[in-house]
Amino acid sequence: MTYLHCIGAACGATFDLHTPLMACPKCGELLEVIVDRPKADASELKREWSERRRSFAAVDTSGVWRFREALPQYAAEHVVTMREGNVPMVRAQRAAEFAGVTHLHFKHLGWNPTGCFKDLGMTTGMTEARYLGAKVVACASTGNTAASLAAYAARAGVVGRVYLPAGQVSMNKLAQALDFGAEIVEVQGSFDDALNTLLALPPEEVYFLNSVNPFRIEGQKTCMYEVMEERGWRAPEYLVVPGGNLGNSASFGKAFDELLRWGLIERAPKLIVVQAAGANPFARLWREREKNPDAVLKPLEPETRATAIRIGNPRSWRKALHGVESTGGMVIDVTDDEIGEAKAAIGRDGIGCEPASATTLAGLKKLREADLVDSDAEVVAMLTGHGLKDTAYILEQHGAGSQGQQEGH
Ligand SMILES: *Cc1c(COP(=O)(O)O)cnc(C)c1O
Repeated sequence: MTYLHCIGAACGATFDLHTPLMACPKCGELLEVIVDRPKADASELKREWSERRRSFAAVDTSGVWRFREALPQYAAEHVVTMREGNVPMVRAQRAAEFAGVTHLHFKHLGWNPTGCFKDLGMTTGMTEARYLGAKVVACASTGNTAASLAAYAARAGVVGRVYLPAGQVSMNKLAQALDFGAEIVEVQGSFDDALNTLLALPPEEVYFLNSVNPFRIEGQKTCMYEVMEERGWRAPEYLVVPGGNLGNSASFGKAFDELLRWGLIERAPKLIVVQAAGANPFARLWREREKNPDAVLKPLEPETRATAIRIGNPRSWRKALHGVESTGGMVIDVTDDEIGEAKAAIGRDGIGCEPASATTLAGLKKLREADLVDSDAEVVAMLTGHGLKDTAYILEQHGAGSQGQQEGH
């Protein structure tokens, strides 16, 4: 049986899978989906998953639903999909030199339908919304979740509503949400204020699709299945990911637990989460826990030009912490200048990404310099968003005229 489970250590309450809950009604902690062990054994699953790449059926062409044995189950006609996932893993030469490592690959999640990884979770979240019969879906967003929600809501034929921090969202992302017909609500303050505004709404009226929604996490975890598959089910030594609200990091940790438990891999990569120095509550927590293992996350007022991770109160920190601790990973932070240099280095490999994504390379360079990562370690770094997601940043970085002076930063 597949069901919802409260992650609270002292709680552990369980709920029917299709209960529309964003937190445990008993203790307030986040919920997770516990997926029933797939019937097929590991080698059968691997064969089936890779054979689906030759199929043209919608659920098979999706890099998320291709792994559906590891997900909540739906009838194929209910699935809201746009061929998300199955994105390339590209070798990075100049970026590797920049960081001082020899084996570096970028898994480019920006090459998804709306240009970022949020699509991986939106296909599963929107499918659940439709299963529940939701008429209106909503999220708070620094931009990318809004663009993704807008697109998938349009495909599902439901109303999409997005809560954005006024003046802090890249124009390109706002344009996407408008293009796909979403209702836009601007909130004064930060992303955290926008999320609080949303979560205070009566849940009967809207279905929430932020990454506190456990169904989003299910879709997002599949990119780790994909990375392992591409590498012959051998984990790299390090897996590097930017950390904002920490939904993505949380989903990777969950994927590693499952892949190990179901015998699909023998060891997990060390999960490295990189935050922007001005929005680093998780990195601070990591440092504090060296002295005090019971420390909890302290929210802060976020400030960084990497707007996708301009978040001061990441909701999924407990889940993400589990992923980092269980794999022997690390959490670090990098400055906006370091992010800018790393982004330019990635660009010289012919690969575009948004500033938040470049934290991974900046973080890797920093760990190399501190000798915390070996130069010959195999590293897979996630690029979370497409280069065209924040063109104002790029133009400004290269001093290219007045277009670089737009609002949004
Ligand atoms: C959402 C987002 C992030 C942060 O992911 P979290 O799951 O919130 O930690 C990083 N980069 C990009 C491009 C994003 O859109």
